Amino acid sequence: MSVAPAGRGQPRRARVVVIGAGLTGLATAWHLRDDVEVTLLDASASPGGQIRTVAFDGADLDVGADALLARHAEGMALLRDLGFDGDDLVAPATGRVGLWIEGRLRPLPEHTVMGVPTDLTAVLRSRALTPAAVARAALEPLLPRRHLPGDRSVADLVGERFGRQVVDRLVEPLLGGVYAGQPERLSARATIPPVWAAAQSHRRVTDGLRAHRERAAGDDRPVFVTVRGGLGRVVDRLADDLGARLQPSTPVRVLVADGSSWRIELADRVVVADQVVLAVPVAVAARMLAEVVPEPARELAGIRCASVGVVALAYDWADAAGVPQLSGVLVPRGERRLVKAVTLSSRKWPHHAEHPRFLLRASVGRVDDTSALALDDDSLADRVDAEVRWALGLRAPAVERLVVRWRDALAQYDVGHRERVDRIRLALASDAPSLHVGGAGLDGLGLAARARDALRLAQAVRTEARRAGFPVEPYPEPDPDPAPTVVERT
Ligand SMILES: Cc1cc2nc3c(=O)[nH]c(=O)nc-3n(C[C@H](O)[C@H](O)[C@H](O)COP(=O)(O)OP(=O)(O)OC[C@H]3O[C@@H](n4cnc5c(N)ncnc54)[C@H](O)[C@@H]3O)c2cc1C
Repeated sequence: MSVAPAGRGQPRRARVVVIGAGLTGLATAWHLRDDVEVTLLDASASPGGQIRTVAFDGADLDVGADALLARHAEGMALLRDLGFDGDDLVAPATGRVGLWIEGRLRPLPEHTVMGVPTDLTAVLRSRALTPAAVARAALEPLLPRRHLPGDRSVADLVGERFGRQVVDRLVEPLLGGVYAGQPERLSARATIPPVWAAAQSHRRVTDGLRAHRERAAGDDRPVFVTVRGGLGRVVDRLADDLGARLQPSTPVRVLVADGSSWRIELADRVVVADQVVLAVPVAVAARMLAEVVPEPARELAGIRCASVGVVALAYDWADAAGVPQLSGVLVPRGERRLVKAVTLSSRKWPHHAEHPRFLLRASVGRVDDTSALALDDDSLADRVDAEVRWALGLRAPAVERLVVRWRDALAQYDVGHRERVDRIRLALASDAPSLHVGGAGLDGLGLAARARDALRLAQAVRTEARRAGFPVEPYPEPDPDPAPTVVERT
């Protein structure tokens, strides 16, 4: 139904409420700030969601996300549009990653695509797999094609083509760092799309992966980038530009459809909106929508989430001299350690290399193993400190420690995830076109994907506002070359 705004003279602008001020909600509201009357509500006292920069041992350390993919235009365009350039942006000093296997550090083999090898000589050199497992992986090009419609799990697809050890020692640790999930349940289509695409297009998956690598080979831009001083600066800049439109410490309790508008019920008042954007964790969105659009709400409630923790540790440089020149270390779950990944911040980021102490952050917690998070902060920091000292050759305990817990933070893109998201979007488009759902639970956990999602959400809001008769300017064409310069590269 069209709701052409009433009133004399200039028609009023559309009232849009964005709920959730993580990067998705912040960037969506920011894109809309001049076009509509936008309000951004967040439950916590400070915005940013899973982006948080804290003062740790005198350094500005990210204890949530610490980097974004630099090769995705939307993420870089957002940084550029916010005024980050030149000296602000930093690429990793090294992209080399280690694997902790059977108590020893091995290099992650070169020439893999999301952990799946395309060059078995490099795998042999790395000694990450046993010779028998390398021989099994070498059979891949000889296997018959098994074309199955629909989605498959990562373990099923990669295990069938390359053997189980490729799953357990190469792919699982990489996915563990992102999803803290189980390869037996994670969707190949949603979590390892280049491997999925190669399996769709080539009889020999290895050929498809080599073609993928060749396409990427000409791109000499760094893979990751961060902001000197922490990603919290991105949040601060978005929040500054939004000013009073951003309302922290304002949890939304209930969302009610009221004819052609929405009533957003807060603790002390009700806000009325023509459109609503939900950019909250999936479980929160499912609760808010249960009465309004029950079927999409049920689908959202079916997305599992993993809780994780980050333990930041600082060591005297004299005790860290032997730490290898790696950006990080991944720990396969078969190793049965508490730590699943370590970012060697003082090796990875040039600005942290200058810090008077050696800094690292270890992550713990998997969707099917909450034992680490059951420990109190001191015990967890003790255990993590002991594990990383042993793995990295640190000679004395950490002198500063900080534990940060992220409850139900990482959505699990289980088999069938893409189809589920399509069903949610289709149902909303037909039953509630003025309600938009985004956020990391649906299409992409990474910050670059969040920036892309925000553009999509802002565009959907404008389209719906125009359809309902509100005045909205046409959206300007995107800049053909949106990537700002990154000063330090690998
Ligand atoms: C430890 C960790 C490390 C990570 N590292 C990286 C990395 O290096 N690179 C990368 O690209 N990605 C990384 N990620 C993932 C990335 O940070 C997230 O996917 C992304 O920040 C999520 O953004 P979002 O806006 O979708 O949701 P969130 O950041 O979760 O924001 C949701 C917001 O909703 C608010 N909210 C909740 N309930 C309500 C309510 N009832 N009313 C109002 N507001 C509410 C919350 O307060 C929160 O601010 C990491 C994640 C974690 C946890």
